Amino acid sequence: VIQVTAVTKDFGSTVALSDVELTVNRGEVVVLLGLSGSGKSTLLRHIDGLERPTKGTVEVLGVHVPKLRAKELRRLRGRVAMIFQQFELVPSLTVLENVLTGALAQLSGPKLGLWAYPKSFKQRALQHLDRVGLLEKAYQRADQLSGGQQQRVAIARALMQDPEILLADEPVASLDPESSDQVMRLIREIAADDGLTVVCSLHQVDLALGWGDRIVGLRHGEVVLNTPALGLSKEEVMEIYGRVATTTT
Ligand code: ATP
Ligand code: MG
Repeated sequence: VIQVTAVTKDFGSTVALSDVELTVNRGEVVVLLGLSGSGKSTLLRHIDGLERPTKGTVEVLGVHVPKLRAKELRRLRGRVAMIFQQFELVPSLTVLENVLTGALAQLSGPKLGLWAYPKSFKQRALQHLDRVGLLEKAYQRADQLSGGQQQRVAIARALMQDPEILLADEPVASLDPESSDQVMRLIREIAADDGLTVVCSLHQVDLALGWGDRIVGLRHGEVVLNTPALGLSKEEVMEIYGRVATTTT
């Protein structure tokens, strides 16, 4: 469902991505592993149509992303949800309102306030909150929640889109180990239950090992690794550390 072919992206003299190839099949859970500056966010932004490649092509759900007009791009983005390191919730809104904003694009009428959403939306939002284990927090302000809880709200918000693809850009980078674990497990669970395709960027090798189906390693904008995430030998694990965890070229 995602096909990135020979993508190079330059920002002035910085080469953020260099001749990147990435194929993700439907229902697959792929980790993009790489150090800071290796190009993870830039690659995810290409898949979501937020960046256009300098060279190469990006195809998502059968459409050629860089060529889309604004309206078609909005339609595609409805099928692709994204979560971020900093959660990006609206702090002054309640948890429930934040989840509902995930369905903003599905509203035709006025878009302000809880009353703008039909009852069925609210029911769906509450179901998603239940799934992420936060039903009892629905009417609290988002900024009263812990980081891990906020990320779970962001996941519930993403689910409001009924997405086919979930992109997660370092979703646990600002969480403590325990909440990280919880969020990573939740993403895996939801992906399996809903048949979601997931691309999740991470910078910690230990989190990537054994989590997804496949690990794609980025280094200085180049794909340096593409390996199954399960059943790796000790040597293969050391190899992964060597390729994506050191900074020397
Ligand atoms: P991090 O782990 O810090 O989030 P990353 O792997 O997501 O890093 P990117 O944000 O994709 O890395 O950045 C890759 C390279 O591209 C970096 O050298 C960065 O400075 C550069 N870059 C990214 N976006 C821009 C931009 N809009 N303008 C200029 N340079 C950019
Ligand atoms: Mg990044």
